[in-house]
Amino acid sequence: MKSYDLFIDNEWVKSEREEEQKVINPANEETIALIQKGSREDTRAAIDAARTAFDSGEWARLSPVFRADYVMKLAKVLEENLTRYGELELQNTGKPIKQVIDYDVAYTLDNLKFFAGASRVIDGVATNEYIPDGTSMLRRDPVGVVAAITPWNYPLMMVGWRAIPALAVGNTVVVKPASYTPLTTLELADAVSKVGFPKGVFNVVTGSGAEVGEELARSDKVDMIAFTGSNEVGRRISNIASSSVKRLSLELGGKAPFIVFDDADLDAASEGAVIGGLINNGQDCSAATRIYVQEGVFEKFKKLLIEKVRKIRVGDPTDMKTDLGPLISKDQQTRVKEYIEIGKKEGDVLYEGGSEGFKSGFFLKPTLIFTDDNRARIVQEEIFGPVPVLLKFKTYQEVIEKANDVMYGLGSSVWTKNVRLAMLAARDLRFGTVWVNDHAPIPSEMPWSPMKKSGYGASTSRYSLEEFTTVKHVYVDLTGLVRKSWHYQIYGDKP
Ligand code: NAP
Ligand code: MG
Repeated sequence: MKSYDLFIDNEWVKSEREEEQKVINPANEETIALIQKGSREDTRAAIDAARTAFDSGEWARLSPVFRADYVMKLAKVLEENLTRYGELELQNTGKPIKQVIDYDVAYTLDNLKFFAGASRVIDGVATNEYIPDGTSMLRRDPVGVVAAITPWNYPLMMVGWRAIPALAVGNTVVVKPASYTPLTTLELADAVSKVGFPKGVFNVVTGSGAEVGEELARSDKVDMIAFTGSNEVGRRISNIASSSVKRLSLELGGKAPFIVFDDADLDAASEGAVIGGLINNGQDCSAATRIYVQEGVFEKFKKLLIEKVRKIRVGDPTDMKTDLGPLISKDQQTRVKEYIEIGKKEGDVLYEGGSEGFKSGFFLKPTLIFTDDNRARIVQEEIFGPVPVLLKFKTYQEVIEKANDVMYGLGSSVWTKNVRLAMLAARDLRFGTVWVNDHAPIPSEMPWSPMKKSGYGASTSRYSLEEFTTVKHVYVDLTGLVRKSWHYQIYGDKP
């Protein structure tokens, strides 16, 4: 069985206390690897490595083309090992083979290629004489040492989103992957070392959030935290980080509305609801968890949706014919089952898949619940499992109010053939993404950007690259005079 060390300053090192931790395959509960349980001391070592690498200026001052070249080489390793990375992600997360390879890894690869290219064309306000006496110009400098703290639901993709754009624009990074799913991040570190990135530019420390994560949030030597995860932990990190005035980018939870108007193509919408609602087993911050259907088509839509959900194939993730694998952990399975019980009190179960028939693994088939209470917990809280909730509405105004009546603001979708209605909803929905007649696509070129309590900042797109830089104004006097035209305002007489 493979045992992974910490990756600090381009070296694989043991944790100072040499404590190991098991990594489990959620489909069969077998141990698949051992990792180091990193400590605060280890975290400080990684921060120091990243700090020294940043302060040396070697990486930050490299011309964009050369940094892009490193990122492209990293992408190439991923491309040549697509199946290997995919299979590892599959073992560690239980995601089905067709998803890990064709989506998780292939999409991360596209993200990396985009970040490499886009990092060469950062632009801004044009250089000009905004004050007649001098020329103003803009620089975009890296923020410094970035700590990327990532969740378990898209392990490789999230390190791709939170660490790679930071690197591409000249920051150095310390990554703390989720404890359930560190393996593809550690393999990426191996690729970093093979590609020959300078020492200390990319570091990985495995270990608990309470120790490694909080040390990153607390450290004075870390300039920025790029966090993707739950609201609870996001809040904790921002509290801790406030004492050292860090830049934060927080990508937190979601509770996406999925709105079906009565003129929609119901075959397409019900298919979209299955895909949007059950993507990654519902363990997805953009999952279509609240399906609002206009009353005139409600019964027809409900019937179509139940028919389709019944056909979902849950099982062995290595089988190409499997649609959904297990949930990530026993805890997650228990939590989702608890929400199903809550849902039984708050509404009516339309279909319940259950967990029968699996010898091992954290499997749970989809469940569909109807409620007419928009304030119900199953409507308001992130369940993070295969449990979409169906709701009914009468008018446009009503559904927009209901859709917006959650603390989250990440993804949303509307289903209609009426362009005007779609455009109105795009304006009125308080969510960072509005899809029309689809649910889930995020091209690398477009921002994944939250509103409300889903956080702030952007993953993907040029806006993500901008987030990992600071704007610097450089002003150069053009007059060559001892006394500039305005100096009298502070000293001496007006000419
Ligand atoms: P989580 O529990 O918040 O954990 C995320 C990361 O934070 C993990 O690496 C975790 O480490 C670490 N952590 C835990 N406690 C910490 C602390 N006190 N200080 C610093 N770091 C700490 O989230 P999760 O359960 O892994 O992921 C699911 C959540 O992520 C959902 O809420 C989902 O909506 C959100 N998410 C959001 C987006 C987005 O783009 N907005 C994308 C994906 C997921 P350990 O693993 O060691 O606990
Ligand atoms: Mg967690």
